[in-house]
Amino acid sequence: MNAVVRRIDESDTAAKPDYELVVDLALSVGSAAMWSFDVVADRLISHSGLDNLLELTGESEVHTVMAELVRPLLVAAHTGAGWQDFELEQNYETPGGGQKWLQLRARLSADTVLTGVAMDVTARQEDRQALADLADRYRLLVELSPDAICVHEAGMVKYTNAAGVRFVGAHGPDEIVGRPITSLVHPESIPEMMRRIKELSDHGAASEPAEAKILRFDGTTVDVEAVSVRTTWEGRPAFQVIMRDVTAQKAAEAALHYQAALVSHVSDAIIGTTEDGLVTSWNPAAQTVYGHAAADAEGQPVQDLVGAPLDPRAIIRSGGVAQAVHRKADGSPLTIRVSAAEMDSGYVLVCADETARRRAEQYFSTVVASLEEGVVVVGRDGLVESANPAAQRILGVREEDMIGSLSTAGQLYDENNARIPEEHYAFVKTSRTGVPRNGWVVRLRRSDGRSVWLSISCRPLTVESSLPAAVVISFTDITESRAIAARLEHQATHDGLTGLVNRTLVVQRLNAPVRRRGTRCVLFLDLDKFKLINDSLGHAVGDQVLVVIGERLRRCVRAEDLVGRLGGDEFVVIAEDMDQPRKAAALAEKIRDVVAQPVVLNGRHLHVDVSIGIVLAGPEDTRSGEDALRDADVAMYEAKTRGPGRFAFFDVDLRERMQRHHQLGEDLRDAVRDDLLSVVYQPIIDLKTGAVASAEALSRWTHPVHGPVSPVEFIQLAEESALINALGAQVLSVAALAIAGLHADGMPIELAVNLSPRQLDDPELVPAVRQVLMRTGLPSDALCLEITENALMHDPTLAAQTLSRLRDLGVRLAIDDFGTGYSSLAQLRKLPLDQLKIDRSFVTALGESRDAETIVTSIIAMAHAVDLTVVAEGVETEGQLSVLRRLGCDHVQGYLLGRPGPLEALIEVNAQFRQEVS
Ligand code: C2E
Ligand code: CA
Ligand code: CA
Repeated sequence: MNAVVRRIDESDTAAKPDYELVVDLALSVGSAAMWSFDVVADRLISHSGLDNLLELTGESEVHTVMAELVRPLLVAAHTGAGWQDFELEQNYETPGGGQKWLQLRARLSADTVLTGVAMDVTARQEDRQALADLADRYRLLVELSPDAICVHEAGMVKYTNAAGVRFVGAHGPDEIVGRPITSLVHPESIPEMMRRIKELSDHGAASEPAEAKILRFDGTTVDVEAVSVRTTWEGRPAFQVIMRDVTAQKAAEAALHYQAALVSHVSDAIIGTTEDGLVTSWNPAAQTVYGHAAADAEGQPVQDLVGAPLDPRAIIRSGGVAQAVHRKADGSPLTIRVSAAEMDSGYVLVCADETARRRAEQYFSTVVASLEEGVVVVGRDGLVESANPAAQRILGVREEDMIGSLSTAGQLYDENNARIPEEHYAFVKTSRTGVPRNGWVVRLRRSDGRSVWLSISCRPLTVESSLPAAVVISFTDITESRAIAARLEHQATHDGLTGLVNRTLVVQRLNAPVRRRGTRCVLFLDLDKFKLINDSLGHAVGDQVLVVIGERLRRCVRAEDLVGRLGGDEFVVIAEDMDQPRKAAALAEKIRDVVAQPVVLNGRHLHVDVSIGIVLAGPEDTRSGEDALRDADVAMYEAKTRGPGRFAFFDVDLRERMQRHHQLGEDLRDAVRDDLLSVVYQPIIDLKTGAVASAEALSRWTHPVHGPVSPVEFIQLAEESALINALGAQVLSVAALAIAGLHADGMPIELAVNLSPRQLDDPELVPAVRQVLMRTGLPSDALCLEITENALMHDPTLAAQTLSRLRDLGVRLAIDDFGTGYSSLAQLRKLPLDQLKIDRSFVTALGESRDAETIVTSIIAMAHAVDLTVVAEGVETEGQLSVLRRLGCDHVQGYLLGRPGPLEALIEVNAQFRQEVS
């Protein structure tokens, strides 16, 4: 039984109520009773309403209970002062089981009687308890609140709850209490906090929630939402601050913001609907895709807006994604990929507009289909996934046969015609490594047996890094362009006429280093007198001869040797590993013999000789290809000087000789300029009279160092340049003056002067001849110009023109060295000629061979038939002379009759003749 006994002070009982009134009052509220108790007898004397209050029916029970209830008062009464009021609150259990709080107030009315009031204070007691509970609850609430709560007074923290301790990262409230509140707030937030606090002037006033930063013990900060409330602490004004950690909330808000931004910025339409398909949200992209404004869309059935049935349930059932054709507000179709998901109160639909991509895909596949280039896509498994029409055409495989087949099915060969192993295929490598490859050139053996050359490029299909990669192979058929290129290259490196390699390839081969311990042999071939064939039989015949010779050369060398044509009648043979000069000589001889075999063309047997210059080069040879060729050319020239069908090795002597030749050319130029050449005269005898009919002027040159130089050499030198024109003019001028002098002295002989082929082309020739005749007074018909058969045949038309212009001057014309060329009677007939000089070689052969006589006989007959005087050159013996006389030759010239010599010698011969006659 709980009991609270309280003494009531004197002051409390100062105004004592009327006893009767109290009784009445107590009785009137029904919850009070009056009682008096004999302290000594320890029994209830009287009472009024106790039975009611105690919910007891029997008087004795009232007495028993009451005696029990007042016992603490009795104890107090025994010990306390008599004038005191006693008060006691007792918990009492009613017979019904209920709980009541009774307040007993009493005073000792006499020395032994305690008079009091019993009151039911259950309600009040309950209120009090409730208040205590409330306080306790609030205390717990404050202490256990997840929000930090603290009280500060005069700037110092007076109280904090556990959350406050946690917020700042302290170990307990002691670490916080007593600190300045500002030490817990981030300096940034202090001014605002102060301002808020200042505004709170009345007790209980609270600030609006505001954000602030709390400074933790470890230096970090916590974002809080703070509310300050004006309160008191120990009677002094204080502030209670409630702070909520808003870090998570802020993060959540940011996330929400982000999501909202996403929804409004994505290009996919995001549509929220109710269960029944009414639109609840419609993002800007939906507006763009479908052309309906958000304001118009909300609340509308979604299928009306997208222009097609749209059942989110069905989409979700079939995996959440579906392809569909929707319609824009203007009716145009849209290719849409719809994703659907269920929400609490409906569905969210994400509609991706793939119209543009589809269109791009369509364009793309149209482009790929129309490409000239073959395009094949190979999957990561190495199987063909797609092939455009060009690929099918180029590869000769139908699409259905290609798709799913191995990309390595075709057989590929490299430039050297070697089968390429599959693992080296460019697209196999690209698939394995992800590295693209361009311009891989291979030959494909198609299943129909045809071969095509392909230029292939491969690249990974996607940029993803996982390997093996799917690969796009694109290729073009370069068979034709390769053939063209090969043909062009062949043309550029081969001679069109003979099909032999040309100078470019020859030099290229010569530039390649000589094999170790090997010797390279370079043979420079020049056909002898080929010009003659060309000039007299025409270029077509000449070309045919060259083709035949080329073919013979090709056949007579080893396969690894190279035969080339440098141009004109020049050929080159390059043979490797000709370690001894003997072998090179044998090869040269073999070539000469092969070339010398008669070439039969149009029933004509043509004999061609070849002069060969040979260069041998070892591995140490540092000559360039061009230099080696030049040296072989030099050797060939040397061979030519030895006569037709000869060969010569190049050596340093030879080079020196060539250098001399070159030097001689320079010296000759000086000699002509300085008039250092002289002229000798050789008599030509008339066989009928035995008299000197004419004299041939022959030029002579004595070199200051080398002595006399043969005209064969220096005339050739002069003919290599225009120098021959000056030289010829000098000889003509000197000789004409001399013979004109003889005329004046009564010796009216004819003058024969040689004309070099080149002079025939000289426009100055005719005027020069005219001038000489005028200046010297030599009668024009006393001048005979000798032109070789070859010179006439070089350009017969031009020659004929020049000859007739000379003829117009009254000059006589002779054909020199007749029989060495191929001119025919018919050709000669067209030319305005007066004389024919049989070449010395025929005269020499006279008396030795019957053939020579036959030839000379026919030449004389032929010449006479066309009214030409016949002169035989090089008569050295009486035998030759008598044959010529017998054959009816008109004139003779030769050492037998007189060597070339000074003018005086000529006069001498003439005088001898006169003596013989007289
Ligand atoms: P060519 O016009 O046939 O001259 C005749 C050559 O035969 C001369 O040689 C002469 O000395 C030589 N000869 C004459 N009789 C005999 C003989 O019985 N036996 C031998 N073995 N030879 C004989 P040369 O003077 O050495 O001249 C050689 C060639 O040089 C000439 O041949 C001619 O083609 C050319 N030549 C000489 N002088 C001139 C010139 O002033 N102008 C031109 N264009 N050519 C010239
Ligand atoms: Ca002559
Ligand atoms: Ca001659």
